[in-house]
Amino acid sequence: MKNHSPLSQIYLDANATTPVLPQAAEAALNSMRVLFGNPSSSHITGLKAKDVMETTRNNAKKVIGADDGKVIFTSGATEGIQTAIISALVEAKKRLNIDKQDEPSKKYSLLYGATEHKAVPESLKHWNEILGINAELKAIPVDRLGHLDCQFIAAEAPNALMICTMAVNNETGVYQDLGKLEQIIRTANNDIFWMVDCVQALGKTPLKLAQTTIDYAPFSGHKLYAPKGIGFVYIRQSAPFTSIIAGGGQESGLRSGTENLPGMAAINVIFEMLLNQQHSEFANINTLRGYQTQLMDTLKSAFPDVVFNHSIENSVPTTINFAIAGFSSKEIMDLFDAANIRVSSGSACSSKVTRSFVLDAMGLPAWQSESAIRMSFGPAMTQEQVNAACSRIQSAAKALTHSCMILDTGEIDEKQPVNGLVQLRSGSNCTWVYADQQSKQAFIIDPLPELNDRLDTLLQCQQLELVAIIDTHGHADHQSGRTFLADKHLPTQQTNLLGWPQDCETHSSPNSPKHSPKHSPKDTNSVDDVQLQYIKIGQQWLVNVPTPGHTADSMSLLLCQPFTDINQIKHQCQFAFCGDTILMGSLGRTNFASSSASDMFSSLKRLHRLIGSNNLICASHDYNNEFTTHLSAECGRNPLLRNTLNGQLHVTEFERLKAELDSNLCDQNGSEIMCGALTDDQLNGQSIIEYNHQSLNAALQQENVTLIDIREPHEYALQHTDDSNENVPLTRLVQFIQQQQDQKQHKWVLVCRSGSRSFIAAQAMKRLGFDNVAHLKGGYALSS
Ligand code: PLP
Repeated sequence: MKNHSPLSQIYLDANATTPVLPQAAEAALNSMRVLFGNPSSSHITGLKAKDVMETTRNNAKKVIGADDGKVIFTSGATEGIQTAIISALVEAKKRLNIDKQDEPSKKYSLLYGATEHKAVPESLKHWNEILGINAELKAIPVDRLGHLDCQFIAAEAPNALMICTMAVNNETGVYQDLGKLEQIIRTANNDIFWMVDCVQALGKTPLKLAQTTIDYAPFSGHKLYAPKGIGFVYIRQSAPFTSIIAGGGQESGLRSGTENLPGMAAINVIFEMLLNQQHSEFANINTLRGYQTQLMDTLKSAFPDVVFNHSIENSVPTTINFAIAGFSSKEIMDLFDAANIRVSSGSACSSKVTRSFVLDAMGLPAWQSESAIRMSFGPAMTQEQVNAACSRIQSAAKALTHSCMILDTGEIDEKQPVNGLVQLRSGSNCTWVYADQQSKQAFIIDPLPELNDRLDTLLQCQQLELVAIIDTHGHADHQSGRTFLADKHLPTQQTNLLGWPQDCETHSSPNSPKHSPKHSPKDTNSVDDVQLQYIKIGQQWLVNVPTPGHTADSMSLLLCQPFTDINQIKHQCQFAFCGDTILMGSLGRTNFASSSASDMFSSLKRLHRLIGSNNLICASHDYNNEFTTHLSAECGRNPLLRNTLNGQLHVTEFERLKAELDSNLCDQNGSEIMCGALTDDQLNGQSIIEYNHQSLNAALQQENVTLIDIREPHEYALQHTDDSNENVPLTRLVQFIQQQQDQKQHKWVLVCRSGSRSFIAAQAMKRLGFDNVAHLKGGYALSS
């Protein structure tokens, strides 16, 4: 594989961790090889090691302005946070025992900022339980700027045992006014223990801890160019202390265990740079602010729809948190990774969508939280790196324009043509777009409102004429985006409520016994009597097949070559858009007011007769990343469907079994309205052939293997200078599967950035009979 980009990485994720500065690494190495002594040993090697340790401690104190108080070395900030919380709560418990004698019913709380790093509330909760304190944990709200609510603190602090705040937020860089907080806290409660998480403040904002009444302040080395595994905690002179690690009595008995001398030697280099700016690699605050402005200006010009999620005036200059309207954070992460810029989504993954609890707490709109991207750098950033980052950001935006994700009418002719079926998603909901490049016509099925702008951009950018925009049924779980796009692109088209055009044609089979009153769609076994409406797209027909059941208005839309006899459809059909009638691994639920299980029974049989077993079904939900299916695959794992289609089930039995399945629906996916009941015989679990880079290279030389890059076109364009492998983006996987129906035994190897998209795509293909499909485990990420 010679397709990986030669670009070196630009690392803009310093708030997660930083590389170790060469001088710091050198000092660590020296301490491992030369100054390797145990500081507890009384011989000269030990004394030299002890000197390194104490010099480092003194420098730490100078850097944080702690001429008074203790500095204890730890493994990192999480340990420092435990030290602070245990120390405070052990003492609080003693006081509580005394207070309880006077006021047995008094309720106590533990306060923490709502935007705190998870290490803080989780540790509070943990030690509150372990120590049996049973105080109530209360999150201090923040305002739109991310500032703590002082009124809340003033009201709650009198009954609180401990308050935990942070100097600088790790997602947004927002800093708190510690002087103002101190005044509020101490006025409300002079005895409360106060911890300030200073992890993201070190080296980015001046600290004078001994001039404050902060009791505890944890720090971490790996956020500022020292290695992982070294940190320290400041403890105010008068603050209580309980050791959390007992043993050989190191660190004056405060934290036992042989000290991490290499870590200390390395962090000492960083302290010296902070203390001696002239001889330092570190840029000053003004220079860093200039870098921030340059990056923000570039983002604004590259992505006109960018919004910044925090105010720059109250943030450190090294963090930029932004969102781009219409793009999820995952999409921007993938794009930037392809441009070799490392950023973070600044978010925690919840069960359904990725979103930021910090931005949620600040009350930002949901989309900003779901699309948040954090760019962060440290004081060792250089002008050269900033320039390179800006130029990569511009290339990334250009790649998006080229693949019609952003509209730029100036370059309309250079766009990559979209031909065939595209599957767009929002969560587990799907929208299907079909474009016929020859006629320049397109239709859209089940448009989701959150995709309106993207669909509009695609149509305009590809200069496509929209012929229809249709919902397969009235959706219970989400709004349709139909009217927005219909008003814009089809203002005069007359349609029914779901968007089916009135101006359509009707096909009746030549041998049909015209409308026999004996036959209703419910009880017939023949499709000869069905008159089907269709519209034309290019040379093809989009045929409307009423398939009531999930809802009374449900229809399926079949994209076919023109046919003369309805019985030919199964040979002429490309895709069957079945809405919620048949979902992957399940059938649409039939317990809505307008549902009918017996209608669904008939609709399933009708669909089977029309499309047969192997035509691809495109559903309006994809709960398990399976992309598409066909009846043969579904019957293999869905006994209800199998027994319905092979005639072993009577309609009344179907109704009973279906009701039983539907009654379990709510338990299956939390608060989401599930549109289909999953069956017992579940999903995925396909064993896939996995290659690593070596075995793949060997296979490529020896066998007839085709490599498929399944990243989106803009990612592909940013990384490929040749076209040594094919690009089949995930959004076009269904089209690819359709085109390769007679190549099922071929050896396809799917590749993506990290191996996760290639894995799910390979599973989907394997389920549909592509027995030799394989993927590259770990993706391109592990190849460089
Ligand atoms: N606090 C903040 C604000 C942080 O950003 C982090 C790390 O992400 C931590 C605490 C935990 O630090 P460590 O990784 O050193 O345990």
